[in-house]
Amino acid sequence: MSIEVTLLGTGSPLPSPDRAGPSTLVRTGDATLLVDCGRGVVMRLAGAGVLPIGLSAVLLTHLHSDHITDLNDVITTQWVMSTAPTPLPVIGPPGTGEVVDAVLAMLSRDLGYRHAHHDDLQYPPSLEVTEVRPGDELTLAATTISVHRTDHRPVEPTVGYRIEHDETVAALAGDSVPCPELDVLCAGADLYVQTVIRDDLVALIPSERLHDICDYHSTVEQAAQTAARARVRTLVLTHYVPAPAPGTEDEWRALAAAHFDGEVVIGPDLTSVMAGPRP
Ligand SMILES: [Zn+2]
Ligand SMILES: [Zn+2]
Repeated sequence: MSIEVTLLGTGSPLPSPDRAGPSTLVRTGDATLLVDCGRGVVMRLAGAGVLPIGLSAVLLTHLHSDHITDLNDVITTQWVMSTAPTPLPVIGPPGTGEVVDAVLAMLSRDLGYRHAHHDDLQYPPSLEVTEVRPGDELTLAATTISVHRTDHRPVEPTVGYRIEHDETVAALAGDSVPCPELDVLCAGADLYVQTVIRDDLVALIPSERLHDICDYHSTVEQAAQTAARARVRTLVLTHYVPAPAPGTEDEWRALAAAHFDGEVVIGPDLTSVMAGPRP
């Protein structure tokens, strides 16, 4: 069996007509996991052939707005489409419960309208929130998810997820600078998904506020160095800041290839990559 990772949204907080916000789909043989809920996530899920009712769980790496802004759409769409009172598991760092409660409060009028018209809908929506900490391990059928600390300070807490199924490992780091915990998260992984920035291009943007993001995100080069140190098989880059200009993806790939000799994946939304056990 294998693990398939699909980059649902490869964008960032910067609006783009072509790239949805950060979110990644991980499909193992028995679990369909949505990691982060950036702008446009439900549209991209549909593009990947998955509806919110098909999700085994939603995993959040941290509570920055670009990673949670469409959690409300996932919750509402799962709720209105569900035919059984199956709770949607939402897993994230401490603070996730507060965010989910606030989303439900924001949706309260809509939930009331819809329930008034369809009294078969479970009311309020059933969500199973689990706040996780580094060192925690969760099991969904034959898929295990271990939780690791990442370093996105001053944003805390932040976590990455190491997802294992049938001797195959996908490591999803979220936003993080290199750190020892990140090396452990992705040690020997078949797929290592890292959000990245290009500090050389960000420096050209006339915005002090934007320049600050270089302090707490991995550059392409740093992601490649982490991948090499951790001996991963395939480095999957996402959350491009700024979005690569058309035809420049090879330039991004080359920056990584200077530090890492495995496969480097970079592409548009809905790019998929699959990995199975190593021979
Ligand atoms: Zn962030
Ligand atoms: Zn981000």
